[in-house]
Amino acid sequence: MVDSAYLDQFRNEEVVRRLAKIPPARIDELVKNYFLLCKELCPRAKNEEEMLIDIEFDLWDEQRDPKAAVSKNDVPDIFTEVQAVVDQMLGRVRGERCNLYVTQHLLQEIDGLYLRGVRAIKINERVLASPANFRGVVAHEYSHHCFATGLQSPYSGFQIFEEGYANGVARAAQLYFSERDQNPLFKKRAFARTLGQLIKARAAPQKIPEPRYTGPAAILDDRAAYIAQNRHCLGNMLFAHLEAERGPDIYRQILQREFTW
Ligand SMILES: [Zn+2]
Repeated sequence: MVDSAYLDQFRNEEVVRRLAKIPPARIDELVKNYFLLCKELCPRAKNEEEMLIDIEFDLWDEQRDPKAAVSKNDVPDIFTEVQAVVDQMLGRVRGERCNLYVTQHLLQEIDGLYLRGVRAIKINERVLASPANFRGVVAHEYSHHCFATGLQSPYSGFQIFEEGYANGVARAAQLYFSERDQNPLFKKRAFARTLGQLIKARAAPQKIPEPRYTGPAAILDDRAAYIAQNRHCLGNMLFAHLEAERGPDIYRQILQREFTW
């Protein structure tokens, strides 16, 4: 049963309205905080641009080492492990089952997908090259599953919130694995991704364009294009802000219907 009043808080329009209320100084502060978190791991970078480039090089090094890659045989165990970490974080006791497939048949630039209709995750095979990225992508897609089965939002209309949510859960899972395995690459991935998205969000207009078309041409609408292009970075900015204000329990509260703005 869809609790529409609860879900309405998370609609794109409402989310963009909330984002517009975040003062620019606060956004700068979030960028600075994540820059400093990255700097602890990558001290040589002097500014944001250098930081993103340096981290990218470190992560390429990881992917060039074939011994570091995730073996296909280990995928089921890692998936079980990531599910347990995310379920625990979200206070999700028993939920609907989700399947995971690693495939070559995804567009090169797509790391992973969650297929709502069949409750399945597809991960691009190339992601196996990086254990840190692999766990992050699995956690991201799995949190879409938790959202879809726990709150049942129809994805269209909620993309910004759900992508921000998924990125926040993935970041938290990567931090968990980073501590557990004493592997700074996990953290580096999580912080660098957030920093990159925050920099992009800072440059994005904080207002959905007014609709220019109605009817079937809506797909060409500026609004749809705006949301499609910015859903990850705006969602990330929203959750970097919410998490800093209210703490890491925010993801559980949202899924357990304890959240209000
Ligand atoms: Zn996603």
